[in-house]
Amino acid sequence: MKTAVITGITGQDGAYLSKFLLEQNYKVIGITRNLHSGNFLGLKYLNINNEVELVEANLLDFSNIIRLLEKYHPDEIYNLAAQSSVGLSFEQPIGTLEFNIISTANILEAVRIINKKIKIYQSSSSEMYGNVDRSKLPIDETFILHPSSPYGISKAAAHWIAVNYREAYDMFISCGILFNHESVLRRPNFVTKKILTSAIKIKNSELDYLTVGNTSIRRDWGYAPEYVKTMWKMLNSDIPDDYVICTGEAHELQEFVDKVFKKLKLDAKRVVKRDQSLFRPVELDVIYGNPSKARRKLNWNYKISFDELIDKLIEDEIRYDEWFKKFIR
Ligand code: NAP
Repeated sequence: MKTAVITGITGQDGAYLSKFLLEQNYKVIGITRNLHSGNFLGLKYLNINNEVELVEANLLDFSNIIRLLEKYHPDEIYNLAAQSSVGLSFEQPIGTLEFNIISTANILEAVRIINKKIKIYQSSSSEMYGNVDRSKLPIDETFILHPSSPYGISKAAAHWIAVNYREAYDMFISCGILFNHESVLRRPNFVTKKILTSAIKIKNSELDYLTVGNTSIRRDWGYAPEYVKTMWKMLNSDIPDDYVICTGEAHELQEFVDKVFKKLKLDAKRVVKRDQSLFRPVELDVIYGNPSKARRKLNWNYKISFDELIDKLIEDEIRYDEWFKKFIR
């Protein structure tokens, strides 16, 4: 039985990746900043909270990571912990840079010292590319990084540190450059989750309207439970490398809103309001990627269309809403 350590296990990807690795017969050790935060809804919803071992650790404290490695002897580490919100990174730039960069450097250095054979997955992001010239889209692994937010900068720095450890110390480190991927386990401060939960509340007469910022942005959106499988594939292929993971299509946020409201038979024009204060200082207008390297080398065979994605997100959200209401009763 292989042992995997997942940092950021309480997040969207951490929960789905845990479920997937348990199905592959892994022992899963999950790292959280606070065992008493009650932040385990995702793991509970997937019914795996008793299947994983949760450990409290401060990834900014190098000695914590050394102890973790000495205690659990993992075969693989999936480094998912991060302040992952672009919007929040403009409010908390220093905290975002500090956590996202130093935690990654600590993990890499600890593995280099304790056991270089441990394989590491680093969660890089499409936000590292920033506002790419439209004529050059779609983005692939060879593009120059020119991030437009503190979050993007932190991910770019962590990415290059990971690449440097791979090249300098011959370690097995793969970076997944994932484009936006959504699910019912998205945090409430992400726009897709806000749209879905608000639309369902409006449908149930529990809310009057939805407020959104800039809906003209275009993104390459995928389904999180499918995307996490590529993390495992990256660590279980022959050589470590960097991979763009995406659908290859961009859709406007307004289209996302319209489809969700239409599918729920709601009149978006009547119940969706725009709020200038939700606009960001710098916004990526349009971004989408080219997943052909992942298709070729990882057998990445993603087939969920944008319409199917919206259907799945609505179905999951309704199921989650029912589960949550029973759960808190
Ligand atoms: P998420 O839901 O925000 O989860 C991240 C986890 O990191 C949290 O549950 C939190 O767990 C932990 N964490 C540790 N330090 C933190 C800090 N200072 N601030 C906030 N959280 C902190 O993220 P995700 O969507 O699962 O994404 C997983 C990883 O992939 C992240 O590194 C993200 O940046 C990256 N990524 C995500 C996407 C996407 O579309 N979802 C795309 C590209 C890259 P505790 O509170 O339990 O410690």
